[in-house]
Amino acid sequence: MPTSPMMSLNGKIVPYDQCTVHAFSGVVKYGAGVFEGLRGYWNAERGEMYVFRLHEHLERLRYGMRVLRFDTVFDEAFMAESLLSMIRANDLRENVHLRMIAFLDGDDELAATGPVGLVCGAVPRPPSKAVTDGVHIATSTYARLGDNMLPPRVKATANYVNNRAAEMESRRNGYQGVLMLTERGKVSEGSGACFFMIRNGVLHTPDTSSDILESITRDTMIQLAREKLGLQVLERTIDRHEVYAADEAFWCGSGYEVQPILSLDRLAIGTGTPGPLTRALQDTYFATVEGRSNDHANWLTPVWSGA
Ligand code: PMP
Repeated sequence: MPTSPMMSLNGKIVPYDQCTVHAFSGVVKYGAGVFEGLRGYWNAERGEMYVFRLHEHLERLRYGMRVLRFDTVFDEAFMAESLLSMIRANDLRENVHLRMIAFLDGDDELAATGPVGLVCGAVPRPPSKAVTDGVHIATSTYARLGDNMLPPRVKATANYVNNRAAEMESRRNGYQGVLMLTERGKVSEGSGACFFMIRNGVLHTPDTSSDILESITRDTMIQLAREKLGLQVLERTIDRHEVYAADEAFWCGSGYEVQPILSLDRLAIGTGTPGPLTRALQDTYFATVEGRSNDHANWLTPVWSGA
């Protein structure tokens, strides 16, 4: 993975090679970490990079640190500065995926709560083919982890053993991604994205009790769909067989952005091509995140003019 050469470790800028933790740290031994994936969008016209919904990502990270009962919960200003200074240190002027991990450091037993570290890095990301062309996906044979097992609302490192198993299964079987169901067999989400479908002009997405991550992109899409396209949006329990009947479907996340879903389990969704409402939602999403629309300016944190 071509991570940019400078990273931030515990608030200090360090070269990639020196951004290390001990092999017996709590995050390595027990998966005691919580992470975020964010995006920075380069707006060439304004000569500015915007980090999308930084505040919400940092709030979710802080929430995760509390749920993992870390004895240090970094404040927002420290985490924001760690991230932004790392972007500046790399002089990044292109679209990037930004990664932050708050992790259990030290070398202690299972119930240790500190010391806690923070790492930030960036990976340049050119536009993705999946956004333009769409993806063919499969239903997972692995159930999405339940709220009484591990916390789906937290981006806990350990949760992703579940997502990874599902993702690997779908890749082995020749698909481009996976739709996970809850233990009760209801639609939950992808391995790194939230699911939406359109039926009869209404946008449907699993509710927050469907063992999903409370995704920031999901919230963005719901707001934009209502405001910009006047769509009705229903957050509810969705059955697997309803998806086969959808007119359009897509999934979205900070990393995935908005990707049309062309088929599920080799059954075409609608016409099997990216649908018109999906395209319209993509257009409004990219106009917002890239700072081409003047609405929701408070969602955008400028990297350079804020320095
Ligand atoms: N679900 C899962 C399991 C994820 O890992 C992600 C990526 N963070 C998402 C959904 C999308 O979340 P967000 O829009 O906040 O990036």
